Formats: sequence, C-alpha cells, structure tokens
Amino acid sequence: MVAKMLERPTLVLNRNWQPVNVATVARSLVLLWNEAARVVDPDDYRLYSWADWTALKLRDDEPWIQAIRQRLRVPEVIVLAGYDRVPRAAVSFSRRNIFKRDHWTCQYCGVQPGGDELSIDHGLPRSQGGTSTWENFVLACVACNKRKADRTPRQAGLKLRKEPVRPTWKPLYARHEARIESWSKFGARCTGTWGLRREG
Ligand SMILES: [Zn+2]
Repeated sequence: MVAKMLERPTLVLNRNWQPVNVATVARSLVLLWNEAARVVDPDDYRLYSWADWTALKLRDDEPWIQAIRQRLRVPEVIVLAGYDRVPRAAVSFSRRNIFKRDHWTCQYCGVQPGGDELSIDHGLPRSQGGTSTWENFVLACVACNKRKADRTPRQAGLKLRKEPVRPTWKPLYARHEARIESWSKFGARCTGTWGLRREG
C-alpha cells in the first residue's frame, strides 16, 4: 500500500506555475525535503514546505503514507523553486513516435498485426520526391506495403485512412496512464481520476 502511494503521480509545476513534468510521490517528497519544491494545495493554492506539510493533520478521506513516526498527506501538485523553463511542446520525430501516432495500425487497410509486421511507408515515394517527414510517413502492413510498392497511394489504388500530421500531444503526459482530477486547475489535461479510469 505504501509502495503504491509512493508511485502515485504528482504534477510538477515550474516557478511560474506552468506544468512541466509528472513525478512520483516519492520523488516529490524528496524535492520537498530538499527545499527544491513546495506542495501546492489544489483547493486553496496554499504552499507548503516540508515542515508545513509534515505538520498537517490528515483529512478523513484522503490518501496518506505511513512514515516512520507519522502519516503524511500525499501531494498531488508541487511547484519547483528554481526552474522556470517550459519543455518543448514539439513531439520528437522518431520511429517510435510514428508508431504511436498511427496507433500501431496500417494506415491503408486498418489492420493491427503487431509492430514486427508494420513498416514505415513514404506516402509519396522518395523516387517521386517524397520527404522523410511527419506528413509523408505512415505505417503500412506487409500486404499494403507490397501492393503499394514504389507508387503513390492513388497510383496503387490505396486510400489513406487519415491525413498524416505532426502530432500535438506532449510525450510528458502521454507517458503516464492516469491523471489526477485537481491537475486540470493547473492547465494539465485531465482524462480521468487516478485509480478509477485509465487512458487508452
Ligand atoms: Zn494494410
């Protein structure tokens, strides 16, 4: 139970209160202990240092951690003392992220045969001036890839299920399965309550 609480996610805000990361409760408590961060109470936005936080009485219905001598409230949001940058919003261009964008699905016929049976296809073939970009790369299954060969989708009689675009999601949030409801107050996308619903 303690281990599970320590692995719960905490939203990390930079000095300007912009969400920059998601850390485990364990990591957040270390940052708090080191005075590198303070806890934000999402109800009234009060800030708590380690001393303030550990002096708090527990509310009846809230999660807690059994420390050696006391029970600690579990922080949901912390704000960093010295960091004011914002991570790059752009998703890095990589093989893995193309698979992710296309949901491991052939963009021509819609099959999901598993990663080994999918390859990255140039929509407009390189021989016809196609570039290696988000907008020209799509996942294709072996059969569609073979059928398409060195032609455009139209020449091969294939139709793309959707226009390939640069994804807008941030890998920061995509990495984590769950959100805590109070995070939405800080501009972090909230798709469910921790432990109740998981993001697909
Ligand atoms: Zn296919």
